[in-house]
This record gives sequence, C-alpha cells and structure tokens, in this order.
Amino acid sequence: MSVVNACYLNLPGNYLFSEIARRVNVYAADNPSRKLIRLGIGDVTSPLPPSVIRALHKAVDEQADAAGFRGYGPEQGYAFLREAVVADAFAGLGIDADEIFISDGAKSDIGNFQELFAADARIALTDPVYPVYADSNVMAGRAGAPDADGRFTGLIYLPCTADKGFIPELPRERPDIIYLCYPNNPTGGVLTRTELKQWVDYAREQQSVIFFDAAYESFISESDIPHSIYEIEGAREVAVEFRSYSKKAGFTGLRCGFAVVPRALVCRNARGSSGKTALHGLWMRRQTTKFNGCPYIVQRAAEAVHSPEGKRECAALIAAYMRNAGLIRDGFLRKGLTVSGGVNAPYVWVRLPDGTDSWEFFDRLLRETGIVGTPGAGFGPSGRGCFRMTGFGNAADTREAMERLKTFVL
Ligand SMILES: *Cc1c(COP(=O)(O)O)cnc(C)c1O
Repeated sequence: MSVVNACYLNLPGNYLFSEIARRVNVYAADNPSRKLIRLGIGDVTSPLPPSVIRALHKAVDEQADAAGFRGYGPEQGYAFLREAVVADAFAGLGIDADEIFISDGAKSDIGNFQELFAADARIALTDPVYPVYADSNVMAGRAGAPDADGRFTGLIYLPCTADKGFIPELPRERPDIIYLCYPNNPTGGVLTRTELKQWVDYAREQQSVIFFDAAYESFISESDIPHSIYEIEGAREVAVEFRSYSKKAGFTGLRCGFAVVPRALVCRNARGSSGKTALHGLWMRRQTTKFNGCPYIVQRAAEAVHSPEGKRECAALIAAYMRNAGLIRDGFLRKGLTVSGGVNAPYVWVRLPDGTDSWEFFDRLLRETGIVGTPGAGFGPSGRGCFRMTGFGNAADTREAMERLKTFVL
C-alpha cells in the first residue's frame, strides 16, 4: 500500500468555523424567533463595484470573436494588470511590473511560496495567526508535531498579547522566514513605519526573508502606517509582499491577487555555500510549472479596481465596513475592555476580562444577545482570552448588535 505524506497527519483539525456553525445551529433551533447577528464573518458581503461588473461584461464579450478571444495567458499575469498595479500601488517604490506575479489570490501565494525554501528552513510567525502560514509549513514538514498547547515544536512563535499592545517582539532565535500580516487578521493591529523598519533591519542583519501579507492594506486610515513594506528602505532585498483583491474590492468569489517578488531578493543555494539564487526566477519557474494563470476576464476586472472610478467605488465599500468596525470598537471600549483594531483594519480584537475563556464567552454572548463572533482560541493559543468581531456585516445589523451589547453584563 502507498504511504501518505505523514506531515498532513500533524495538521490540526479545521474545526473552528464548523464548531461555530454547529453551536449557532443549536441556538437557532432553540430560539427560532430570535434574530441572529453574525459579526464573525471574514468574508465581504457587498456586491462587486459597478466598474468591475462592466469590465467583466466587456471581457466576456471579447471572448465571443476570434480577434478578442484569449487562450492560455502568461502565468505571471497580463502586462496590462501588472502595469496598472505598479502605477497605482507601487509608484516611487522601485518595483517594476515584471516583479508583480498575478494569481488567484493571496492564500494560494502565501501557501505556496514556502516551497522555494529549504526543507529545514526555520519559520517564525505571530500567535494569534492566519492559519495558512502555519499549516502550509506543517504540510512541508517544517513544523514537527503539535504540543499539548497546540503549538508546533518546530515553529518559532511570536506572541501578540494585550500587555505588548498585540505587537510581536523580534524573535530570540534566527528564523529563515518571518510571516508578518499588517494590518493584521485577527487582531486588527498595525505596525507603524518605525516598527516595520525594525523588522526590515532585523531581516537584513539576520539574512531572513519576510513574507509580508498586506491583504488589508486598503483599510489603513492613519498616515504613519505603511501600505507596502517597500516603503521601508532596504526591504526589496529581504521581503516578498502579498496582496489581494478579496477584501479590497469584493473579489472573494471572483479570485485575484498578486505577489511582489523583487529581483534584488536573493538567497543562498545551500547552507554555508557562497552561491546565490534570486527568488524571482524560482517563483517564475514554480508558477509556470504549477499554475495556469488567473483568468483573463478576472484580470480585466482587477484592472478596473485601479481605475479612478474603481478606486472611488472600492473606497466607499471599505468606508462602510470601517464604519461598522468603528461601531464595534466603540461598543466594546464602552464595556471597559481592551480593544485592538477597527481603525486601520476591519477586525476588532477584544481582550476579555481576566480568566474568561473565549469559547465560553462565545456561548454566553450568543445565548444572551444573539450575536455571533469568533473565539480567539481559534487563531492560536495566545488568542484564548480574546474574541474577534468584524466590520463585514451590514450597518443596521451592526448597530443593532451594539445596542444589544449595552445591556450585556460581562
Ligand atoms: C482574507 C485574507 C487573505 C486573502 O486571501 P485571498 O486568497 O486573496 O482571498 C490573505 N491573508 C489574510 C490574513 C486574510 O485574512
């Protein structure tokens, strides 16, 4: 009998959202007349902007005649989109259009990019964390087995706890790869320019590579928060950046994103060897071998996001989500709790009163108010005393939820 990749057997059960659904279903069956308000969602709820829909229709019609028809496209994306991306998002940052690799989303890129590194590469990630960072390295055999606390013995965890402002400290041992997500899911936290510079300087000193997940870049409202890691001097030599149209423009179903892989980013061919290889060429090789490219019509839709009209429409969608997030933030601050996020990110991360278990809080909030959030424990051991709410619901429901919260006794 053939043998499976046993690393997969070390993966934690993906029970978070199924367990939430199970508990919500039980509650709904017992309370059929009570309106549920779901503020745990990590998906957009507004339809696609009109300029995106127009671009889609136009690109579909082009496929009906020989002159406009497109077959296999370039795996790294069409030049029209790569150039639109650079002009709109990376002007003046020293990034060329051929350093942009269009994909079907940031999750795929973030999950796949670790393939370019040695099997024994050391990985650092924040706790709580977006699960893809850890799980893709578990699959690759870099994480070992989980301990009783659910932490993988082979990974370097960087706790983001309330006493440290939910911001990670530099690692104590040298990692080869550092995953940073800012603005952050789930904490909603950000790194200022000065704070991000410390990470870039550290990576340069230690010759580590930063995987910078900027999926929520477009939700930034404050001026001293960098939108791209390439705003920091020297980052092109140590960082790849991942972006997504999912939350920015409502593409969670349509699917498009991109990775920025600067040509200046080089790594050693082997430990102790002086031979070096640029990740740019390796990623090109990986994508041309294993990826078929993002559909032409979707790339035309993404191009529309960078048009003046598309930018206005997306900004309005984001503003609406951020108004919701602001209401949630204010609602929990009024309860006297420590809260992160809701200012530069659609996520609000609430530190629960000492000793409160995030699943118990989930149950009690649901039972007493009908509000559904996400227990922080689902994002890692450091999330246990925390709770995540999101601005992706609709405005009226979010307002109603915050009314209900007023009478909730902590
Ligand atoms: C939603 C999200 C993404 C985006 O993933 P897509 O595959 O582009 O939809 C990436 N990173 C984080 C942290 C996210 O929350």
